Amino acid sequence: MSEDTNNHETQEIQEIQEIQEIQESQEAQEAQGTQAESAGPSEQREFRAEICQLLDIVINSLYTNREIFLRELISNAADACEKIRYLTLLGEEIRPADDPELGVKITVDDKENTLTISDNGVGMTREELIENLGAIAHSGSKSFLSYLAEHQDQTPDLSLIGQFGVGFYSAFMVAQKVVIQTLSGDPEAEACCWVSEGLGSYTIGAGTRQDRGTSIKIHLKEDAAYLAGAESIKLIINKYSNFVPYPVSVNDEKVNTVEAIWVKNRKEISDEDYAEFYKFFAGAYDEPLARLHFASDAPLSLQALLYVPGSNMERFGFNRTERGVNLFCKKVLIQEKCENILPEWLRFVRGVVDCEDLPLNISRETLQDSALLQKLNRMVTSRLLKFWEGQARDDSKKYEEFWQEFGVFLKEGAATDFANRQELLKLLRFESSMTDPGELTGLDEYIDRMPESQKAIYFASGPNRASIEQGPYLEIFRESHWEVLYTYQTVDDYVLLNVGSYREKPLLSVDQENEEMPDLGAANPPQMDEEKAASLIDWLKDVLQDKVKDVRISKRLVESPAVLLSVGTSHSMSRLYQTMSEVSGLPGNAFSDILEINTNHQVLQGIERLRTEEDPFARTAAEQLLISAQMAAGLSVDPRLLVTGLNELLAKALGH
Ligand code: ADP
Ligand code: MG
Repeated sequence: MSEDTNNHETQEIQEIQEIQEIQESQEAQEAQGTQAESAGPSEQREFRAEICQLLDIVINSLYTNREIFLRELISNAADACEKIRYLTLLGEEIRPADDPELGVKITVDDKENTLTISDNGVGMTREELIENLGAIAHSGSKSFLSYLAEHQDQTPDLSLIGQFGVGFYSAFMVAQKVVIQTLSGDPEAEACCWVSEGLGSYTIGAGTRQDRGTSIKIHLKEDAAYLAGAESIKLIINKYSNFVPYPVSVNDEKVNTVEAIWVKNRKEISDEDYAEFYKFFAGAYDEPLARLHFASDAPLSLQALLYVPGSNMERFGFNRTERGVNLFCKKVLIQEKCENILPEWLRFVRGVVDCEDLPLNISRETLQDSALLQKLNRMVTSRLLKFWEGQARDDSKKYEEFWQEFGVFLKEGAATDFANRQELLKLLRFESSMTDPGELTGLDEYIDRMPESQKAIYFASGPNRASIEQGPYLEIFRESHWEVLYTYQTVDDYVLLNVGSYREKPLLSVDQENEEMPDLGAANPPQMDEEKAASLIDWLKDVLQDKVKDVRISKRLVESPAVLLSVGTSHSMSRLYQTMSEVSGLPGNAFSDILEINTNHQVLQGIERLRTEEDPFARTAAEQLLISAQMAAGLSVDPRLLVTGLNELLAKALGH
């Protein structure tokens, strides 16, 4: 090896040594700097390994909503207040605070670039500081790390940190240094100071705080300087911590005006309070239509305050309503607009569900499919259904008001939510052939009125009452005093046909082919002899062969010459499928219909006469009969065919 190389190496080693010296002296200076916060000598300690790892992620990762650190610190401060309140209740000897009212005071200083969160809660002794903030292995830090490791590919969602029991460390998302001054409620304890920059170690020493409680001073990172503004802080508090049960102030101004009223006793809350909470919470301007406030202990311990808004915004052409129920655990927001707490069809409900039993380590994924959440969902949904059932029974006017506005959601539920279908069907309302216009009835009342001979529940669809009542379909029902529900929207038919039956009674559209019709034979005996009728039918089948599935003598007609029955579904559904296939360009689902004729009607007798006379006009008349029946069924008919037929009829009528 040449001397040159040797020299070069020595030089390098020297350089490295110099750098190391500089680094050490800088660290010493920094340590002194931190010592300045403490009132006496302080001791430097290392964080546990997994906390170092956690801090490393918290400090360095890209995050979206780092303002959640404030929620964590405020919730710790509120917990500390709660703990001292509890100790007081137990009659423990505790150090009194200067201000007897427990609370959280936040001060911001935009010159110093600091933010201080101070409480007069339980405080911490030296041992507690060491235990709680750095030394003891939190199982939570490990599980949070593994949660983050699992989601490495995505931007980690650090907002869950609090649920892993390590929320305090989120302060380092925005802090370059954190200084804690604390004085425990234990009368023997001395004030302590804890300082850290989150880089592997912290110092602990004698503190300066003279009043019971804890202050956490955050020296903000440069890019978080906006947090030294009172307005930004207030906004964050409004978003995450408005319902903390202790007063929170920012630079001496109280900010959390609305308390967690859902955990209060119902008797203590006025209607105005309820309404104000709704407006604040849902960002709404209308009065809620209804509210449901309840607590439950089993199978889960929960408190819920839910509202039906004043109006259904989807009806006004707004987009699909966003979920509106927020999930809390002991007054701390876990998830806004929680998706899984209610089924999709209940998306119009606003409010809060506060469940004490949520495990600390619940993550967004487990929130989505945890058995716990399903349980919660079932509990809350069935309470809502019971609530409406009660309202429908006790205050039907009020219920109908709700139905007019939100009934469409219940229909959606009946079609999609199999688990709650029976309860939902109970809640459906319709006009019927036995109600006055505008008056509504439910399926249960309908069943109560059913004569014994009637086995099914019938409905007829049309754009309005008059058009339903005009058609040929209601004739038999009128004659035999069977009630028919009127459905004005395609969705009604969709739901009823999908559901199929209620309380073991089939749900049938009046235009569906069905064996169960009452026989009007006695009241309306056939006038055409059987043989004649049979050959007329054969002839009609031949003439209309590609257009109908079958032709037969009707037992349900009195005044109309013919009626078209749908097989397997209703005409309104065939129409829907027809439109859908037109839109999608796919071949339509070929629903074939049955033409039923009334041989007592003069039109049919006329056709029969022309047919036996071999008059070619018999064909035109038969085709026109079908077109009229199709129109009465609400099916779309080719207007050119219609016009040609009509012109021929006109010519005939005018004697040509
Ligand atoms: P968690 O609140 O889930 O226990 P954190 O990381 O937020 O987890 O806090 C850790 C612990 O530090 C708390 O359990 C509490 O004992 C202690 N602590 C934090 N902030 C305060 C405070 N302001 N007053 C008293 N103790 C506190
Ligand atoms: Mg916490």
